[in-house]
Amino acid sequence: MSQELSALIYLVAAALFIFGLKRLSSPATARSGNQLAAAGMAIAIIVTLTNSGISAWTIIAGIIVGSGVGAYLARTVEMTGMPELVAAFNGFGGGASVMVASAEYLQNPDPAVQTIVTIALSVVIGAITFSGSFMAWGKLNGKLPGQPFGYPAQKLIDPLIVATIVFLGVMLVLDVGGSFVLWTLLVLGLVLGVTRVIPIGGADMPVVISLLNAFSGVAASMAGFVINENALIISGALVGASGLILTNIMVKAMNRSIANVLFAAFGGADSTGQGGTTSDKPVKAASAEDVAITMGYARSVIVVPGYGLAVAQAQHVLRELADLLEAKGVDVRYAIHPVAGRMPGHMNVLLAEADVSYDKLFALEDINGDFPRTDVALIVGANDVVNPAARDDETSPIFGMPILDVDFATTSVVIKRSLSPGFAGIDNPLFYNENNLMLFGDAKAAMQELVKAVAEL
Ligand code: NDP
Repeated sequence: MSQELSALIYLVAAALFIFGLKRLSSPATARSGNQLAAAGMAIAIIVTLTNSGISAWTIIAGIIVGSGVGAYLARTVEMTGMPELVAAFNGFGGGASVMVASAEYLQNPDPAVQTIVTIALSVVIGAITFSGSFMAWGKLNGKLPGQPFGYPAQKLIDPLIVATIVFLGVMLVLDVGGSFVLWTLLVLGLVLGVTRVIPIGGADMPVVISLLNAFSGVAASMAGFVINENALIISGALVGASGLILTNIMVKAMNRSIANVLFAAFGGADSTGQGGTTSDKPVKAASAEDVAITMGYARSVIVVPGYGLAVAQAQHVLRELADLLEAKGVDVRYAIHPVAGRMPGHMNVLLAEADVSYDKLFALEDINGDFPRTDVALIVGANDVVNPAARDDETSPIFGMPILDVDFATTSVVIKRSLSPGFAGIDNPLFYNENNLMLFGDAKAAMQELVKAVAEL
């Protein structure tokens, strides 16, 4: 195939990646976005294989095995296991970049300066991504403790590792020490991935995974420069940029900085409902029947789903409740906070699983102004994302975090098991408001009772 033709086809593939990414920004178009990007990748692979002189059978066997494992994992993984799967995929991406770059070095240990720089970057960033991602994977699936933990003198040793990596990188570029330097860089990258991720709490792992996703893209892009492969450079750069944008959206929505997530061990105690309330003010505990009457005779209800909805797997019964209310003429909509739950888009996928129509889902900025005109805000297993302290209390650690203004609704109803704090570990003044009702219980069980009570109205 002529160089011009392959460049043109790579351009088509790159355009498909970009249109695919664009479509991923809405749940309604995400599926087709994925398909577009996958088609782009298939085209890029075919052109690369056609142009390369590598024995095609080895590659085809690799593609069959890799695609088979990937398809099996993607089909069988539970929605709650999705962040772990993404972590593992990132890790493999980083590992692949390490292999591509080191193979190139082994073939030609005396490359041009720009190539050796990209080899060093690809190996180090790929190694950090590989080991860091598998630490994140272990923390999320419970194989490693979710709490932040480190090792003695970490504050001293980690910067020392970084300084050694920079020093060895310079040695490699100056061609001093040969392949020994490259392998040492690889080992130090792996060590740094472990030591930087273990001190971060399990609940912050989605942010870490998103950052490592960006790293895996940068490593792949560097590997693309090493082997002079445009499709790899472009797709790696797109993964790197979108991973960084996502990380930025997440930390902004939590009103934190990346440095705070990486170095502050915030929320390490993972909110599993074990904490205690910090206030002894009275709350209004309601029965399912009380709440059913409040909602059954309302004109408008906004549901705010949170992490507890996912824990209780209550999305289907929530949908049942919404159907019942709508049959009674109540307008039911859903308000989605950008960091509700424990991964980006967590609530969207959960509600999609229960076939809730996308046009009923509203982003924070699109629905927040409607709460003062809403009869009931029903908060299911959410806590931090509806904490008015983030808006009203300058001394609160989450002050400035955008929240859903559920306290402006005529009545708010909170379904959770206790007054325990959420991920941020702080009390929620919403619970003690005059117009707030607490329906205590597991979200699924409480909503099953609600469904029964609304049906009997
Ligand atoms: P929160 O962690 O603030 O609160 C969840 C609440 O769910 C808990 O207070 C708990 O209360 C309740 N809960 C747990 N299990 C159940 C159950 N079975 N039935 C009913 N309730 C239950 O969650 P939010 O979704 O409101 O906020 C998300 C938080 O996570 C934010 O602080 C965000 O910054 C953070 N975060 C989000 C990320 C993301 O990508 N989305 C990434 C990293 C962090 P109780 O024990 O009383 O039942």
